[in-house]
Amino acid sequence: MEPKPGLESIKRIILSFPRKELIHLPTPLRRLNRLTEELKGPDLWIKRDDLTGLAFGGNKSRKLEFIIADALNKGCDSIVTWASLQSNWCLQTAAAARRFGLRPVLVLFHTSEVAPEIDGNFFLDHILGADIRIRRAEKGKVIGLKEVEPTLDEVSGELRRQGQKPYVVSVGGSVPGLSMDKPLGAISYVLAFIELLEQSFSFGLKISHLVTATGSGATQAGLAVGARATGGDVRVIGISVSDKKESFARIVGTIADQTERELGLASFRPEKDILVFDEYIRDGYGIVNREVAEAIRLIFSLEGIVLDPVYTGKAMAGLIDLVRQGYFKKEDTVVFFHTGGTPALFPHRRTILDFLK
Ligand SMILES: *Cc1c(COP(=O)(O)O)cnc(C)c1O
Repeated sequence: MEPKPGLESIKRIILSFPRKELIHLPTPLRRLNRLTEELKGPDLWIKRDDLTGLAFGGNKSRKLEFIIADALNKGCDSIVTWASLQSNWCLQTAAAARRFGLRPVLVLFHTSEVAPEIDGNFFLDHILGADIRIRRAEKGKVIGLKEVEPTLDEVSGELRRQGQKPYVVSVGGSVPGLSMDKPLGAISYVLAFIELLEQSFSFGLKISHLVTATGSGATQAGLAVGARATGGDVRVIGISVSDKKESFARIVGTIADQTERELGLASFRPEKDILVFDEYIRDGYGIVNREVAEAIRLIFSLEGIVLDPVYTGKAMAGLIDLVRQGYFKKEDTVVFFHTGGTPALFPHRRTILDFLK
């Protein structure tokens, strides 16, 4: 195995990538005192990536610092991407695009016959005046590249005929391909890991585990690469909100591999190092259940922190369950990544309140 290049040199490599300043860093790290006391398990901390400061914040804005710079360097004047109707990624992309004068074009997948409510992220997309194209999709599923490709071709063709130069980027900014030829989303999360590590040094913390929601994979991949490259023994746990663990081990493993190659790091056998729990997906992507609603209430009422129903609520429900099952040791220190997504809380108001009755 090649020697570990060390934290400073990895940081130097990442900081040499083109990047546009979009967010407030470092995001806060603090102890969840009352939750730790309530669950009587390991020491619980939270990394507030919901406070990045771009359009209600979230993990996507870290990725977009690199992705927007890439689009501008490639001379693009519009950005095309896709996801579900209430996508945090799409809102963050549209907001970041606007900040740099790019035209945001969003292909949004809607799962119902009735016209979508103008609410949550979709409402914010409207305020931004994003160019929105609605397409139909099946409930509880995530839209893959294959299904969206004809629409992407159609939309980028249309933009080109108007004399525009579109930058097309995949859902979540995770998987390289289309206009993004490097794993920029994951690279931003290697840097986030280093930021967290520096904070942990100044607090005198020894982190044993990180817990994050996993959706398109780059957040977990970047954190896992960071953890391994800096030589610690931090375990990165992904709580899947959509796919089975075997599928995510492959996706996250591939992104991690591409990231290590891009950063000139020794590669690891990804799949055995990627830890994903798919036990908390339950009825499917974006479908709220009782445990999620209860986790949102618990964290809000103990800590004053608002989680979202699609990602962080599910990941927190997973973390709470793992603590209760005795997965962690009492002396462990677990950091939960709050990856944002709070605007999606509002369109789910009825379901959440019904579970909390
Ligand atoms: C996209 C998203 C995630 C998942 O991040 P990936 O890098 O796509 O796996 C987690 N939390 C929130 C709030 C998100 O919007």
